[in-house]
Amino acid sequence: SSSKLLLLCTLSLSGGGVVAYSEAQVDASKTSVQVNEKDCKKKRVVVLGTGWAGISFLKDLDVSAYDVQVVSPRNYFAFTPLLPSVTCGTVEARSIVEPVRNIIKKRNGEIQFWEAECMKIDAANKKLLCRYTVENNLVGNDEFSLEYDYLVIAVGAQVNTFNTPGVLENCHFLKEVEDAQKIRSTVIDCFEKAVLPGLSEEERRINLHFVIVGGGPTGVEFAAELHDFVQEDLVNLYPSVKDMVKITVIQSGDHILNMFDERISSFAEQKFQRDGIEVQTGSRVISVSDKEITMKLKAKGEICSVPHGLVVWSTGVETRPFVKDFMGQIGQANRRVLATDEWLRVKGCEDVYALGDCATINQRKVMEDIAAIFKAADKDNSGFLTVEEFKDVIDDILERYPQVEHYLKSKHLRDVTDLMKDSEGNDIDEVDIEGFKLALCQADSQVKNLPATAQVAAQQGAYLSKCFNRKSKWKDNPEGPRRFRGSGRHQFHPFQYKHLGQFAPLGGEQAAAELPGDWVSVGRSTQWLWYSVYASKQVSWRTRVLVVSDWTRRFIFGRDSSRI
Ligand code: FAD
Repeated sequence: SSSKLLLLCTLSLSGGGVVAYSEAQVDASKTSVQVNEKDCKKKRVVVLGTGWAGISFLKDLDVSAYDVQVVSPRNYFAFTPLLPSVTCGTVEARSIVEPVRNIIKKRNGEIQFWEAECMKIDAANKKLLCRYTVENNLVGNDEFSLEYDYLVIAVGAQVNTFNTPGVLENCHFLKEVEDAQKIRSTVIDCFEKAVLPGLSEEERRINLHFVIVGGGPTGVEFAAELHDFVQEDLVNLYPSVKDMVKITVIQSGDHILNMFDERISSFAEQKFQRDGIEVQTGSRVISVSDKEITMKLKAKGEICSVPHGLVVWSTGVETRPFVKDFMGQIGQANRRVLATDEWLRVKGCEDVYALGDCATINQRKVMEDIAAIFKAADKDNSGFLTVEEFKDVIDDILERYPQVEHYLKSKHLRDVTDLMKDSEGNDIDEVDIEGFKLALCQADSQVKNLPATAQVAAQQGAYLSKCFNRKSKWKDNPEGPRRFRGSGRHQFHPFQYKHLGQFAPLGGEQAAAELPGDWVSVGRSTQWLWYSVYASKQVSWRTRVLVVSDWTRRFIFGRDSSRI
């Protein structure tokens, strides 16, 4: 039809190197012909993702210097730290999102946005294969290819179910705005079901058993929000079942919030105990059905099942499949997340950068993996390795986790080779693994500096945009940047993360915070600090006003319990 043709033409002529093509042309390598390379004076930057990393990159980028295109299945930015508040209606979903087009508009419309998802990165030909996610009856084929000069991958990560049976089908997640909205209506559903006539007390109790798997910041914050919602609002609306509500947090480790300072972790546990939130540590969930959650109690080795009304799965994230595929292409198949150098350039390919959760490693897991590598190398269980074996292990670790290099050379482990010498500096035959692991643990506190958080993602985005804004200076240096460590200096300083602290809201107008300089703060005043930091961090004045007015509304009228 003519409208179809018009849209195809518009896409082809839009100047950004977008080519809509039919199914016969799905092979991305055959679709480069349409790109107006000659007319295009500016370098094309394609940004994948509109989350913390992508938006922070776009907000500071000098768009006049580049032809910028953004691909994301979400046409908005979501302020994820407030997602747990959306689950209980403390803030409304629309208050924490900012349309991407509002952000683009402020950049004088020089950025193009495609509501689509990237399906494949063809790094050899600098092409992407994408698919529209917006429902469309106009363009026959949903797929298109995009060419880039520079690619910025900021696609975050996806929920990790650890292949636990029944999790995908029977659990809720708390990753996207839609997830939070679904949880909100399911919680209300559970209460409505629990007061239906004809149910036994046992059935009512089951409906009101809320289980949270994962005692990290998200799981703990959701448990606290839910407890407040129940105690401050729902018990007044459903008085007949108010004593039947139970909230359980299941944690595989020994403590909840174990990535925080010990003082915060124990404060949270004590507070939950006072509030009647059950914390079941040392338990690993092995399956979830629509009625029961089954877990293994690590200490006793027993398996037990508990019935539930709702399960929220919040145990961590993993790499998206198309990123895994890309990692295979560039020789990173055995890694967990994309490995970049200190300038956020993806190792093993040209002009590709990775930011945020898709390039941030779960450091705690790394430490476990490293311990396992040592264990495997120590075949006779003697606790010692020969110098040659030790060197092989170090090479293996660096090959798998290049970012570890950074702290192998830190002040705690100034030089690994020191461990291969005796106290007088003479070479030794065998290396004490325990000594090395101990030193590694001391360095662990440094390693914790790069968690998969919004803070890291936003700082990386801002850093990379500054590098891009000064890229024109590269013209004077056609060979490109020289390495910091090699001869001469790199034009840009490597990325350095500044840890500004982290919060854990614990409900009842109390929060805990770990602040820079090993400061820990807990209580009501910390909750007010949390309010002011989160209000100030909003991406626009519009969302700031909406969020603050939602908090005010909640103080005055309570939360809305209608299931819309
Ligand atoms: P995201 O913000 O997840 O963005 C990824 C983007 O990529 C999205 O726009 C997505 O639509 C897009 N995308 C996905 N697939 C594709 C594709 N195929 N093609 C193109 N685009 C794609 N961190 C903190 O620092 N403090 C907190 O208090 C905090 N609280 C949190 C609470 C919750 C409930 C959650 C879920 C996370 C929280 N985090 C917090 C973590 C923080 O949200 C993440 O670390 C951060 O979002 C990572 O940013 P990102 O840009 O890498 O990924």
